Amino acid sequence: MSYLSRLMDHIANATSTARCPICGKSSKQSITKISREQTMICPYCNSLFVRHHKSK
Ligand SMILES: [Zn+2]
Repeated sequence: MSYLSRLMDHIANATSTARCPICGKSSKQSITKISREQTMICPYCNSLFVRHHKSK
């Protein structure tokens, strides 16, 4: 299933912009991490942060 593995790679490599709550700068982060609310690291200030989904 090479198509599926390529698709999974594409998803894993997909990035979105997430804003660091500490320094306020935006950086590219993995969509997987954002959607799963996993800890991301800010490349500017090296802070760890989680972007929570908006409730409601
Ligand atoms: Zn930061």
